[in-house]
Amino acid sequence: MAKLKFRPIPELTQVEIERFWSHVSKSDGCWIWTASGQRYGKAKIRRVNISSHRLAYHIGIGPIPEGKLVCHTCDNQKCCRPDHLFAGTTVDNSKDMLSKGRGNKASGPRHGSHIKPERFDNPGPRLTRKQILSIVADAKLNTLTNAEIARKYEVGKTTVLNILSGKTWSNITKIQNRIL
Ligand SMILES: [Zn+2]
Repeated sequence: MAKLKFRPIPELTQVEIERFWSHVSKSDGCWIWTASGQRYGKAKIRRVNISSHRLAYHIGIGPIPEGKLVCHTCDNQKCCRPDHLFAGTTVDNSKDMLSKGRGNKASGPRHGSHIKPERFDNPGPRLTRKQILSIVADAKLNTLTNAEIARKYEVGKTTVLNILSGKTWSNITKIQNRIL
């Protein structure tokens, strides 16, 4: 098996750690990476892309053992919650995938959706740029409460609060300070 090569994670400053968590939408369940990345979240540290869950492990648990993958117990690839992460080998990861019905074409009761339904209820960030701007516009009109805005866009209230406080998506909204 090919030896896994991962970029070493540099010593992080408090500011970098805080910036990292500012892109994570925390909840009672998974903590979802809300910035860039397709399947897995991508964080940028000093112009280098590092998977968000690897960084989360590094920050929340400690240095990742050499050559190890960071796997999810929750099967949610954008999840950055340290207690949902474990360091494993590619073998652990594919065993884990098989046990969850991912990585093959299983259907029926073995399929992942039967084992981990919350994964499908909670697919992570799914707002478009237009929706994010429209949430801000709605909030500025002051006719809807944040809870009503959350319902309108079918997102959690925290997601709305994070947007309005500039905690998430400030690259789009240009919000530097909490506006509401
Ligand atoms: Zn999780």
